[in-house]
Amino acid sequence: MLSSGGDAPGMNAALRGAVRAALGEGLDVYVIHEGFLGMVEGGPAIQVATSASVGGILQRGGTVIGTARSEAFRTRDGRRRAVANLLERGIDALVVIGGDGSLTGANLLCTEWSELLDELVAAGDVDEVVAEAHPVLRLAGIVGSIDNDMFGTDMTVGADTALHRITEAIDALRSTAASHQRSFVIEVMGRNCGYLALMSAIATGANWVFIPEHPPHSDDWRAALQRTVEASRRIGRRQILVVVAEGARDLDGEPITSEEVRSILSEGMGEDCRLTILGHVQRGGAPSAFDRNLGTQCGYHAIHALLDSPPDGPPLLIGTRENVITTSPLMQAVERTNVVADLLAERRFDEAMALRGGSFVEAWETMKTLVRAQPSRTTNGARSLRLAVVHAGGPAPGMNTAVRAGARLAMDGGHTVLAVHGGFPGLIKGQLSELDWMSVNGWVAVGGAELGTNRHVPTDEELSAIAGTLEDQRVDGLLIIGGFDGYDGAYRLQAAADRLPALGLPIVCLPATISNDIPATDVSIGADTALNNIVSDVDKIKQSAVASHRVFVVEVMGKDGGYLALSSGMATGAEKIYTPEEGITLDGLRDDVHELNAGFEGGQRLGLVIRGEHADHVYTTPFLWALFEKEGGGLFDVRQAILGHLQQGGDPSPFDRIQATRLVSRCVEFLIEQAASEHPRSAMTGLLGGQVVFTDLDTFPSLLDPHARRPAHQAWLEQLRPIADAMARPAEIRACGADGEEPGD
Ligand code: ADP
Repeated sequence: MLSSGGDAPGMNAALRGAVRAALGEGLDVYVIHEGFLGMVEGGPAIQVATSASVGGILQRGGTVIGTARSEAFRTRDGRRRAVANLLERGIDALVVIGGDGSLTGANLLCTEWSELLDELVAAGDVDEVVAEAHPVLRLAGIVGSIDNDMFGTDMTVGADTALHRITEAIDALRSTAASHQRSFVIEVMGRNCGYLALMSAIATGANWVFIPEHPPHSDDWRAALQRTVEASRRIGRRQILVVVAEGARDLDGEPITSEEVRSILSEGMGEDCRLTILGHVQRGGAPSAFDRNLGTQCGYHAIHALLDSPPDGPPLLIGTRENVITTSPLMQAVERTNVVADLLAERRFDEAMALRGGSFVEAWETMKTLVRAQPSRTTNGARSLRLAVVHAGGPAPGMNTAVRAGARLAMDGGHTVLAVHGGFPGLIKGQLSELDWMSVNGWVAVGGAELGTNRHVPTDEELSAIAGTLEDQRVDGLLIIGGFDGYDGAYRLQAAADRLPALGLPIVCLPATISNDIPATDVSIGADTALNNIVSDVDKIKQSAVASHRVFVVEVMGKDGGYLALSSGMATGAEKIYTPEEGITLDGLRDDVHELNAGFEGGQRLGLVIRGEHADHVYTTPFLWALFEKEGGGLFDVRQAILGHLQQGGDPSPFDRIQATRLVSRCVEFLIEQAASEHPRSAMTGLLGGQVVFTDLDTFPSLLDPHARRPAHQAWLEQLRPIADAMARPAEIRACGADGEEPGD
C-alpha cells in the first residue's frame, strides 16, 4: 500500500481500510512510505503493516505514511529498482492511493513488470525462481485528490473535506463582509476542474462563480458581473461573494484571475472588495465523515476486487458511482480524465462540460438560475401560483437552505411563496405569511428551522381545518420539508382528498431529518451534518482518554433507524456498533464482553462502542455501561456519553446545503408542473442512486418496515455492516498488535 502525489484527507482511512481488509484475508501486508520515492529507495521505507500500525489514524488529515513526488520513478532505471525492492519482499500486488499522475505511474509499472523482471534476472539482481513466482503485478488504484477531477468515480477521497474547509472559510468571510458591506473574491483550488468552486458557490449562496469548464459565454462578462453586483446591492444584499477556480478562463482560453475579478469590482465599480486566496488550507485538517467512510470502503473493496479478479486482469480503479462502490479499468479512467484537460486546452468547453456528467451540469444550471433570479419576475403569461412551504418533524440542518432556494426560485418564476409557521399546527391554525426575497437572506448557511417545525401529525379532525386554511389562502401546491412525521402527515392529507377536495392539491415531500430513516431516498438532508457533529465529538471523547484504559459507550440519535450509529461507528473506528435494525441480544453481549476483555488483555487502551438510541429497549446505554464496567473487571473503566441534541444543531454541511438546493429546485418545478395539470400528482422526492427521483406519495406505507418507523429496505445497512465489522480489529489481531500505545480504533 502506498500514497502518492498530492495528499488528501481520507487517504489514511483508505490505507487503514485496505490494510485491515487484507490482513483479514490472511495476506502479508506492507506499507511503502513516501510513495514511489520509498519504492525506489526500498530499505526501511517498506515496512510490514499490522492492524495496530494503522490504528488511531482515521481522524488524521494528510497521509501518515507520507507522500512524495519522485523523479527517479519516472525513469526506467528507477522503476527497475522499485521492482527489485518489491520482489525482495515478495510483493506482487499494489494498492495505490493518489491522483491521476500516481495512477498513471503505477499502471506503467504493471505494463513493464515482466520486461523489468527479465532485465533484473539477466543482471543477476533477482533470482529466476522468484521472478517466475511473481509473473504479474496486480494493481488497484484509489483516487485521493481534493479536486474531484477523476473519471471512474463520482467523488474522489478528499473532495468533501476540501469543501468543508472552503465553506467554513466563506461562511466566516460572509459575516465580516456583511458587517462592512464589503465584497469578497475567493480563489479556490481546481486547475482543470471547477467542482470545488461550483459546489462551494452553491453551498454559500455566492453571487457569481468562475470555473474552467464553463467560461462566461459573452465577451461582456465584466459588465454582466457588475450588473449582477449592482442588482444585488439594490435589493439590499450586504455582502457580495464571488468564487473563482484557480484555473478559470475566458472563451479565448485566457486566464480569469481572482485579482482581475477583484479589480473589476473594486476599481471598476467602487466596491470595497477584498481578495482571499484559500491555498493549502483547503487540503488540511481532519477528514470529514464522508471522506473517512469513502476511504474505508474503497480500501476494503480494493482488496476484495484484487482477490476476485483474474491475476492477469487489467489494473483496477476503485471508485463510487451512484452511491455504490465500483470497480472499473484504471487506464480508461485516467485516459478520460486526460481528455478533459486536453479539451480545455483546445477550448472545446462544451465537450469538457458534457464529460463532467449529469449532476455537475445540473449543479451549474441551478447555480445559474440562482444567480440570475430576481425578486419579482413574471410568469410569462402563465398563472401565478401560491405555493406554501411547511416543516414537520425535528429540526434538520439544511431545512433553511432548502426554504431559501425554493422560495427564491419560485418567486423568480413569478409565484407567491407562503411560509407556514410551526409545522402542521401552523397549517391547522392558519399561521402563514408571505415570504419576500430578503426575508430568506443568509439562510443558506443557517442551521435549525427558521420557520419553526413540529412533530405533530394532523389527526382526522384536524384535516378539515387544514383544508380550510389551504382554501382560505388559495394555496396551489404544498412543499413539505421534513422527516417521517412530515411524510406521514402528507400521506394523510392526500388520502383525505376524496372527502376534503381542498386537500387534492399537489404535495411534494423533501426528505429532511438527521435520522435518514425515510423511504424513497438514499439520504436525507441533515444526516450528513449530524454525522459530522457526532464524528467530531467522538474524536474529542477519544482524545480525552489517551492516558487511561477506558471503554466509551456513546449513544447517538436516529430513532428506529441505525444509519447514524453505523456510519458514525465506521467513521470513528468503533469496535462495536449497535443498531435498531439488528437489535442487541444477550449472546451477542456475552461475545462482545469477551472480545473487549481479550483486547485489553492484549494491550489495547481505548475501546469505543456506539449505540443507536433505539437499538434495544432493555439493553439501554446505562445497561451497557454497567455491564461492561462489571465484566471488564480491573482491565478498563467505562464511561457513557449520550450526545443528545448537539447532533441536530450546527450549520449545515456542504453536502446538506448542496443537496437541499438541488432537491428543492426540482420540487418547485414539480409543484408548478403539477399545479397546471388536471390530475395533479403528489410525490416524495429523494436521491436514489445519485439521481433526483420522485416517487408517488401513495406508495409511502408500502415502503415501510411493518414493525418499525423506518423504510423496509435500507441499502446502507448491507453496504456498510460487513466493512465496519472487518475494520473492528478482532481480538487475536489486537492481542498481537504492535506497541499498545496506539489509541485502540
Ligand atoms: P498526482 O498523483 O497527485 O496526480 P503527480 O502527478 O505529481 O501527482 O504524480 C505523483 C508521482 O507519480 C510522480 O512524482 C511520479 O513519481 C509518478 N508519476 C506520475 N506520472 C508518471 C508517469 N507518467 N510515469 C511514471 N511515473 C509517474
